[in-house]
Amino acid sequence: MTTDLAKFAADTGVKYFMISFTDLFGGQRAKLVPAQAIADMQEEGAGFAGFATWLDMTPAHPDMLAVPDPSSVIQLPWKPEVAWVAANCVMEGEDVAQAPRNVLRRLIDEAADQGLHVKTGVEAEYFLLTPDGDQISDPFDTAEKPCYDQQAVMRRYDVVREICDYMLDLGWGPYQNDHEDANGQFEMNWDYDDALKTADKHSFFKFMTKSVAEKHGFRATFMPKPIEGLTGNGCHVHVSVWDAPGKAAKTNVFAGEGDGPTGEVGLSERGKHFLGGIMKHASGMAAITNPTVNSYKRINAPVTTSGATWAPNTVTWTGNNRTHMVRVPGPGRFELRLADGAANPYLLQAVIIAAGLSGLASQADPSKRYDIDMYAEGHKVRGAPRLPLNMLDALRAFDKDKALKTAMGDEFSSAFLNLKMREWNSYVSHFTQWEKDNTLDI
Ligand code: ADP
Ligand code: MG
Ligand code: MG
Ligand code: MG
Ligand code: MG
Repeated sequence: MTTDLAKFAADTGVKYFMISFTDLFGGQRAKLVPAQAIADMQEEGAGFAGFATWLDMTPAHPDMLAVPDPSSVIQLPWKPEVAWVAANCVMEGEDVAQAPRNVLRRLIDEAADQGLHVKTGVEAEYFLLTPDGDQISDPFDTAEKPCYDQQAVMRRYDVVREICDYMLDLGWGPYQNDHEDANGQFEMNWDYDDALKTADKHSFFKFMTKSVAEKHGFRATFMPKPIEGLTGNGCHVHVSVWDAPGKAAKTNVFAGEGDGPTGEVGLSERGKHFLGGIMKHASGMAAITNPTVNSYKRINAPVTTSGATWAPNTVTWTGNNRTHMVRVPGPGRFELRLADGAANPYLLQAVIIAAGLSGLASQADPSKRYDIDMYAEGHKVRGAPRLPLNMLDALRAFDKDKALKTAMGDEFSSAFLNLKMREWNSYVSHFTQWEKDNTLDI
């Protein structure tokens, strides 16, 4: 049933709609449309100049229309006169192929054609910083092992509670909130859902967390490694595949024998092939799961002050053990621990489905499972690929992975690589203090 947005406004007292889309760099772009004008906009979409965002368009491209998906509408809990609605980008009557939400929708349709429905949960870690972003907001949050710090989480209770209350009201099923492994870092967990719903919630969660933090005089950041030496912001994704979407799902296609940590891991044959696709494409996927220069300071990082980075270095998988790229915590699902807080919520889901479907098509083998402490005993593993060491390595790995590029869509892949290579070039042409410190007297 399609929600009529004009009626939604009349029922809820909403005065403005934020018609919002996400560009290739993960930025959310919106127009504020008054409720009086929403009926036409719901039909036709709001107009944008694509070149003004990161979508790899020229100033000569025709107008892009962001057509709201009314099923995604959310009244802002902290500003109830405004509602956010995710939009699909359309140009001259066609979906814009490289627009992230369209990339994901296409992959969801491909999976559905095979009777597969991917459900995911994300763990979007964040830091609360001072408004200028320079330091963590709580000067007393200095413990060497700050994870689960009871006193420190209570000093930010007003922020955490407000966000969690909103998720309760929205019916997301939040079930726990904690202080994470870095000083100043938090995590809030809500129930998994169909991949597109999770991507919309993930986008909205970032918007909501930043907005609530600002309201309380802080700055929330999902940056992968905002503070040198501390654990970074991961964005783990838990993945299972079902026979139907939403509440109609009855059978977890991934569920197999065993319980993960000992004996046979709890994934079915198809679950293992899907995981095989993730393992096979991991290096190329990193361009999307770890999309920024800063991302590579979180993976492959030296040990942090808490004792562990909790981020992977190598393409390996295991049972219930948090030192590998993939963990199978129990029957019927796996956790991809690769992604970080800079990952685009839509492309993150899309690349998991793309790699997984490719694994299913080729009956990929996830190869050996390692039940070792990867941080201490990683040297014992022979032949498992290292993750890319920097963004350029990752972009090159993606560019070389023809199957993954095709699965993500050729138009998307070339647009993404074009913009990201330009970003890399801008980064390397930036003159740094490090160069001067290390080269001046040579
Ligand atoms: P951990 O920190 O142990 O990795 P969390 O509890 O922080 O786990 O996050 C687990 C996420 O996985 C939640 O979003 C949860 O809803 C989701 N999840 C649980 N079961 C499944 C499943 N079968 N398929 C997909 N996601 C799942
Ligand atoms: Mg204008
Ligand atoms: Mg967690
Ligand atoms: Mg965590
Ligand atoms: Mg996790």
